[in-house]
Amino acid sequence: MGPSKEMQAAVKNDHTIVVGGGAIGVCIAYFLARRGCRVTLIERDGIAAAASSGNAGLISLGHLPLPRPGLLTTSLRWMLDRTSPLYIPPRPDLPLLAWLIRFARACSTRQLRTSMEVIAAISRSTIELFDHFAEDLKIDFQYRPTGYMDVFRSKDAWNHARRDAEYIRSFGFPEKEIGPDEVYRREPALLDGVVGAIAHEGSAFAEPAEFVRGVADAARALGAVIMTDSEVRSIRTANGAVSGVQTSTESFGCDRLVLAAGAWTTSLAKLAGVRVPMQPAKGYHVNITTPTESLRSACMLGDTYVICTPINGYLRLAGTLELSGLNHNIRQERVDMLIRQAAAYLPGIAEAPVISQWCGLRPCTADGLPALGWAPRVRNLYVATGHAMMGFWTSPMTGRVVSEHILDDSPSIDIHAMRLERF
Ligand SMILES: Cc1cc2nc3c(=O)[nH]c(=O)nc-3n(C[C@H](O)[C@H](O)[C@H](O)COP(=O)(O)OP(=O)(O)OC[C@H]3O[C@@H](n4cnc5c(N)ncnc54)[C@H](O)[C@@H]3O)c2cc1C
Repeated sequence: MGPSKEMQAAVKNDHTIVVGGGAIGVCIAYFLARRGCRVTLIERDGIAAAASSGNAGLISLGHLPLPRPGLLTTSLRWMLDRTSPLYIPPRPDLPLLAWLIRFARACSTRQLRTSMEVIAAISRSTIELFDHFAEDLKIDFQYRPTGYMDVFRSKDAWNHARRDAEYIRSFGFPEKEIGPDEVYRREPALLDGVVGAIAHEGSAFAEPAEFVRGVADAARALGAVIMTDSEVRSIRTANGAVSGVQTSTESFGCDRLVLAAGAWTTSLAKLAGVRVPMQPAKGYHVNITTPTESLRSACMLGDTYVICTPINGYLRLAGTLELSGLNHNIRQERVDMLIRQAAAYLPGIAEAPVISQWCGLRPCTADGLPALGWAPRVRNLYVATGHAMMGFWTSPMTGRVVSEHILDDSPSIDIHAMRLERF
């Protein structure tokens, strides 16, 4: 049974602070404000300043999480190679070591099933919510609900992907295997040598920063206060509850605090004595002028894991995963790798003028699932992070589910596997 009408009214009149102006934070602020709550969102930089600004923009329903059976062997081979999809610079780092051990344990069939059940539940209403933002709120974020493809040149990788697709289909996703003729019909610009593709028919892609800024504006229009250039430096707690935060500019009281600060949530939660062990997994993008012959829709390029997303005026090449700590240092060889690998699939990539390059930090838990729920032992502290490679496409559902959990105590999907008590 959910809270009584009086309790719900009290919850709505309370002041909720949301920390973090990325995809997750703004969606939470939006759904809380839509339910009539008093919300202040506090962001250290600008809205969509971090991982949410430059990701590949895939709304990839049914995407497998990172920890999965077999990945461990592949990762060990990749780990020390600066030009492989996964790179871990060798260094003494105990939290990283502990995380890797937990990650290794999570590469199991059992964990994969648990994660896929969560992903399937999140996926169910995702497109409907993105449609809401695009059609009802008229947010222009170049939303293209046309699906996208994983395209393969290597037979081994293609066969592997077909086995994955079969597994993903068992959770209800319309993964479609297509042969080379159909691939070239859909994407005539691809160079010769493609052996097949997996078409993610129910998925979509978009420009992620425009989405986040649009949702922040929508939250503001509903009465949410959006504070930018304001960093939360400390969290005040008393009697097992948060009473407010101190930012770089002022002090705020609150009845409830939601931490949605991406890769920085680990250190913020620590200020309140709460453990959220994560590693920041760095990824890169390079935006290039769209070559004369280019993609019609987004494509993931086979076993390189490079994602090519056509965005108005340019082509974004994004990918790679690097566990090198909480910093934004760009390793040029990894950006160059994106261009080199994409050039094997598409013409004109190597010659195309580079518009910009970027890196961002994915907030990653070791078991691949988000950290979502009330913090243990601090009764009004809520955490919403750890969305790793899927924080853009899961953000609308995360926002909705967090608002349901906070306001009604009855989230519309089972969030048990994501709770913080597992750490
Ligand atoms: C190369 C790359 C490609 C990706 N591709 C995809 C994709 O195709 N689809 C997908 O779904 N996901 C993708 N992702 C993952 C996605 O980008 C992330 O999961 C998502 O952006 C995380 O959102 P967030 O709001 O949790 O964190 P962030 O976007 O990092 O936002 C956290 C915010 O908190 C703020 N903050 C931190 N500390 C404080 C503080 N003390 N006070 C105030 N504010 C603070 C930060 O400034 C930041 O703006 C990709 C990621 C990368 C790097």
